[in-house]
Amino acid sequence: MEKLKNIIICPHCESVIEKKELNKKEVAFCPVCNKKLYESTNCVKYRLFNFSIAMFIFYILSMLLPIIRINIIGYEENLEIINSFIFLFSKGYVFLSLFVFFSVILFPFICIVILFMLSLLFISGFDKKLAKNLLVIITVLKDWCFVDIFLIAILVSVIKLLNVADIDFSVGFWPYILFLSFLVYIVKFLKVESLWEIWGNM
Ligand SMILES: [Zn+2]
Repeated sequence: MEKLKNIIICPHCESVIEKKELNKKEVAFCPVCNKKLYESTNCVKYRLFNFSIAMFIFYILSMLLPIIRINIIGYEENLEIINSFIFLFSKGYVFLSLFVFFSVILFPFICIVILFMLSLLFISGFDKKLAKNLLVIITVLKDWCFVDIFLIAILVSVIKLLNVADIDFSVGFWPYILFLSFLVYIVKFLKVESLWEIWGNM
């Protein structure tokens, strides 16, 4: 069983490969297809720390600054994410406004805080039990962050409104894209499984 733990399957060519311990900053490549397989968990810890700080900055900017400016026959409106749920609520779209509040504003914020705390716990090696609890929360919560769906909804609305309105991406749109890119990178590419692996080595 212990031996099986060190066997991995290359996601690119499906070859079965024996996993080896890596030194700091080392990266393992598949011996068959030569694509990147995994990297030293030390790299991942520090990357998580840097990324969670960058994500926090981009998150705050994208929440406070307007992301889109809409001009319909002289009537100008700036759309801020934080105000969009208040607007939806005031118009009677209670379910939609709560969906935006939890999956676009609150859950991503909790994810950023947890990722930052995890990076600190991983680097310091302090409190393995707390790290486990945080990992359990983020494993569930990451599936409830719909910032990407929100972006698609905005882009679809923009395309539909293009004929009747003058629309510009405002200053908050770019931090939002950057925040989303970091979140997608951590969830889809870095993967929570690799965080569990770091926890196993704590
Ligand atoms: Zn391969």
